[in-house]
Amino acid sequence: MEGRIKLTSADGGPSAFFKATSHAFGETIDAGRTRPELVALLCAQAFDGFAKNVAIQSEGDPVLACHGECAGCCRLRVVATAPEVFLLTRFISVNAAAFAERGIMLLNRIEAADRALGALTEEQRMAAQAACPLIERELCLAYKLRPLACRGHAAFDKGSCLAAARGEAVEAPISTPHLVVRSLVQNALMAALRRAGLAWGLYEINKALNIALSAPDALEQWISGDDPLMSARIPDFDLIEAGAIFDAVEG
Ligand code: SF4
Repeated sequence: MEGRIKLTSADGGPSAFFKATSHAFGETIDAGRTRPELVALLCAQAFDGFAKNVAIQSEGDPVLACHGECAGCCRLRVVATAPEVFLLTRFISVNAAAFAERGIMLLNRIEAADRALGALTEEQRMAAQAACPLIERELCLAYKLRPLACRGHAAFDKGSCLAAARGEAVEAPISTPHLVVRSLVQNALMAALRRAGLAWGLYEINKALNIALSAPDALEQWISGDDPLMSARIPDFDLIEAGAIFDAVEG
């Protein structure tokens, strides 16, 4: 990840951070576009950049209530970029048989989650109160590979966070640095994918995983510039508007 820029005006602020991060993603794509590891490299860069910069931005903040053994926010809609979807797809494909031996039928779970939840709006998804198919005994089976959207949700108070996730009208103290850095890193990655001519939308995770798991050549299609995940794109993310913002920020 290019630099650990403090997100203050003295250090160039969010736009400088966005540009440097997007440039670094672009270099990774240029160097590895035809390599099968591209997806893993981009995700490692995104997750590492998120963790390092959140640590800087959070200095002096209270201790988070999130300690990895809480699935409270895993009932909300999760959106992800294509590299994050394909990284999880590979993990699920490789481990599905081992999970099945333990009675965890992950492929069936994802298919069912796509059918029941894949087309829901954010509000409908919250109202459904259905756990992510990757949750097992309140733990994420793919915790180290979870998308930026999951990493960006962090709270200072477990009780009010759980209540807010249930849709109750409470003010949950959420970590702003997690939200801001998640958004900047995710957008920087999407801007770099866009410049490279790769599909750069945001996808509903259950639908996207089900598509990618059902089509063995989905990753190759995506690398060649097609969008095999198109039907999983969330309708409330406007590609034209987002592209215009990226162009304006990148100059
Ligand atoms: S991917 Fe993991 S962390 Fe994200 S919602 Fe699903 S279970 Fe929770």
